[in-house]
Amino acid sequence: FQRVTVIGGGLAGSECAWQLARRGVPVTLREMKPQRRSPAHKTDAFAELVCSNSLRSDNPESAIGLLHAELRALSSVILGSADAHRVPAGDALAVERDAFSAAVTRAVHEAPGVEVVAGEVDALPEGVVVVATGPLTSDALTKELERYVGEKLYFYDSIAPIVSGDSIDMNIAFRASRYGKGGGDDYINLPLNEAEYTRFIAEVKAGQKLEPHAFEEPRYFEGCLPIEVMVERGDQTLAYGPMKPVGLVDPRTGTESHAVVQLRMEDKAGTSWNMVGFQTRLTWGEQKRIFTTCIPGLANAEFLRMGQIHRNTFIDSPRLLGGDLSLKAEPRLFFAGQITGVEGYVESAACGYLTALAVYARLTGTGFVPPPATTALGALYRHVTGEAHPPDYDYQPSNIIFGLFPPLEGRFKKADKRVKYAERARADLATWLPSVPPADEPRRSA
Ligand code: FAD
Repeated sequence: FQRVTVIGGGLAGSECAWQLARRGVPVTLREMKPQRRSPAHKTDAFAELVCSNSLRSDNPESAIGLLHAELRALSSVILGSADAHRVPAGDALAVERDAFSAAVTRAVHEAPGVEVVAGEVDALPEGVVVVATGPLTSDALTKELERYVGEKLYFYDSIAPIVSGDSIDMNIAFRASRYGKGGGDDYINLPLNEAEYTRFIAEVKAGQKLEPHAFEEPRYFEGCLPIEVMVERGDQTLAYGPMKPVGLVDPRTGTESHAVVQLRMEDKAGTSWNMVGFQTRLTWGEQKRIFTTCIPGLANAEFLRMGQIHRNTFIDSPRLLGGDLSLKAEPRLFFAGQITGVEGYVESAACGYLTALAVYARLTGTGFVPPPATTALGALYRHVTGEAHPPDYDYQPSNIIFGLFPPLEGRFKKADKRVKYAERARADLATWLPSVPPADEPRRSA
């Protein structure tokens, strides 16, 4: 095999390098630590957990718990090390962070054929390269990447909440697109009268917000300002912006309301809906409280994802990457982890795993077999490749959520849906596992 360079020894790069090494591929892992650290990284270990020590719910009937189970079935070094250093945390998989990172660091160093080279990469090396430099990719490398991906490289995410379609009260909502454009009923609209709007604005003003990290100077794009920033500019700013009612006539009253919350289809099947223009730094608890109590039609809303805004380097993967997670314009360059637009420790590790399989398939000329769409791994893959989204989708990072899975056939209660998703995923994963190229027995230091 030719040597592969993996840049970044985070959650994705460590998993990717280890999986390649276990399949006999020599890897050079280039990590800027200890010479240089991002503003969030505090240690010199690989797979550093920069914030919480929790890898979230381990319940296999949650989307993230399902992803844990799938990564365990695949002998992931990240999941294996997490299990080995687990601390009690209810149904969450929380870890003793230093011991966890030390175990991954050791496993990568000990893996056959892995050479670790310290120092910041500021120019992409020759040959097959996996870019896994994460949400805080260094400035020099970001500039270099711009040469390859142009304007399809972003520095902040700007995430609006997503609501499950079947939890919206359609007796209050109405379907319409502005001035009847397009299909005429592409959006779900939630009308607010003046009193309801005034109350909503007062709650957004008073609501608790997350403070930006010291390295996150709030540099927002005018086109996607957080709702609370728009509210600071004037009480009616939202009513002239994302909550503009003009051209949206409620067919039941024949009138326009004072303001409207619009929801746009997030997945092709219409099971999940994005609150248009509702990116926000309100805390998750406040979002749930304010949106369910102040927005008519959302009283029983099931939020599949909450709004957020972070400093986050990521590329427009659905438009830039091919089916094997390599750059269409420069196929020797693969991407892995949060830079592809997945979000979170486990999702990044999972993406690192898939990229390792894709690189291996390229080197062996065998063709990459993606995981079935119905598995958590497959749902993440569908997000990154854009298959889960409508064609004009404004790509933003995502955790693993059931909204990324193909819808279930039939209607189920909320609690039953999770069971059904999990059953279907387990059955379909089993059909895919034989196509995963075998590796050495896992050799993990505890
Ligand atoms: P990283 O884990 O960040 O790894 C990237 C690696 O690349 C780093 O080791 C970095 O030093 C290295 N690198 C960068 N540039 C270069 C270069 N030019 N040359 C060589 N090496 C380079 N996720 C959660 O699940 N829970 C949380 O609580 C959570 N909190 C977060 C808080 C903050 C402040 C941030 C920034 C992120 C948080 N995340 C959280 C997201 C999580 O950190 C990422 O999803 C995950 O670490 C991404 O994995 P990755 O491998 O893609 O990137």
